[in-house]
Amino acid sequence: MERSHRLDTICVQAGWQPKKGEPRVLPIYQSTTFKYDTTDEMGRLFALEDEGYFYTRLQNPTNDAVAAKIAALEGGVAAMLTSSGQAANFYTIANLCQAGDHIVCSAKVYGGTFNLYAATIKKLGIDCTFVDPDDSADVIDGVFQENTKAVVGETIANPALTVLDIGKFSALAHKHGVPLIVDNTFATPVNCRPFEFGADIVTHSTTKYMDGHAMAVGGCIVDSGNFDWEAYADKFPGLTTPDETYHGVVYTKQFGKKAFITKATAQLMRDLGSIQSPMNAFLLNVGLETLPLRMEKHCSNAKKVAEFLNDQEKVEFVNCAMLKGDRYYDLARKYMPDGTCGVLSFGLKGTKEDAVRFMDALKLCAIVTHVADARTCVLHPASHTHRQMNEEQLREAGVTPGMIRLSVGIEHPQDIIDDLAQALDQV
Ligand code: PLP
Repeated sequence: MERSHRLDTICVQAGWQPKKGEPRVLPIYQSTTFKYDTTDEMGRLFALEDEGYFYTRLQNPTNDAVAAKIAALEGGVAAMLTSSGQAANFYTIANLCQAGDHIVCSAKVYGGTFNLYAATIKKLGIDCTFVDPDDSADVIDGVFQENTKAVVGETIANPALTVLDIGKFSALAHKHGVPLIVDNTFATPVNCRPFEFGADIVTHSTTKYMDGHAMAVGGCIVDSGNFDWEAYADKFPGLTTPDETYHGVVYTKQFGKKAFITKATAQLMRDLGSIQSPMNAFLLNVGLETLPLRMEKHCSNAKKVAEFLNDQEKVEFVNCAMLKGDRYYDLARKYMPDGTCGVLSFGLKGTKEDAVRFMDALKLCAIVTHVADARTCVLHPASHTHRQMNEEQLREAGVTPGMIRLSVGIEHPQDIIDDLAQALDQV
């Protein structure tokens, strides 16, 4: 695939490029294993001396074609598919850190990522300091430690919808000799390519817009190839010193700019095994083909819906960075000039019960725990994701009793607005 191709073309054409007589459509290599003629041929694969497939837990041709497409979309050098976004975010940290290390993370990240970094990796001996992403660079600078190995944030946070100042975060990370990892799930590379603003590694829950049809859970890690691991060799021994479990290979020496993804594949996939199924990768690829069309429609619909909600007497607030006056409007213009995403949140005046009545009155907008689907969906955090919290805890988490998360789909915008209007009439 030529680098000069534009994003829409990459979405349709990159990854699988059939030769004479091969299938036009990316085949699903539904095979756990791959055949060789000689002992030595397969031995060279195990020694990482030749490239090739031998077992799908490590690599599979369908997955690799889709990973190559996502790498091209993000402008990275290599990518790896994982079984979920959670696995992608875990692997990224596990590939850089060991017990005794520390990371810095935006406090506004998705709840699953928050738990993973606040509790689960802590049990493995890796500490995380959460920062308010809107704090000044000086304040955030103060939380770095000698053992800090990475900084993490989300382009548009789920569900807080804060926009990350990627430039501020990458400058801080690089000042301390560590990479910036950006979860780009909500923006997708159609609306933001974090590498262009200094991020080093990007992760995705491909479950969301990339798939776009609520069909397949999946994740992806993309490496820009820009971070100079050898310049900070003492911080990243896993990449810069011999891996005795792979015949003493030094990833940075043997694989150069592909060191990070090769290590994640050779070590983490081998040992932890959260590979994406080839069937899911195939479905993801179908989703990717229409990603630019869908993102444009999600954004234009979300803007119209946000403007409608903003004019309603019964609505207390609307969070949508495409809306003039939104706290993140300027940052969104800088990092996502063509639009942010289809997810917005809004607060109804009144009680939790009023919000429940509104939710139950919706006909077109469906109540599901998902976002970023072609179909419009809603969730009431106080009843669903944050149900266990009391009123005070809800306030601390920034969730009001009347707050509703709305993932605007690609239906006709007026039909979505009509449904919201009739439900508002019943509150
Ligand atoms: N990152 C973000 C921004 C998310 O919104 C989610 C899920 O909602 C995840 C990661 C986790 O992804 P998955 O559900 O595919 O494991």
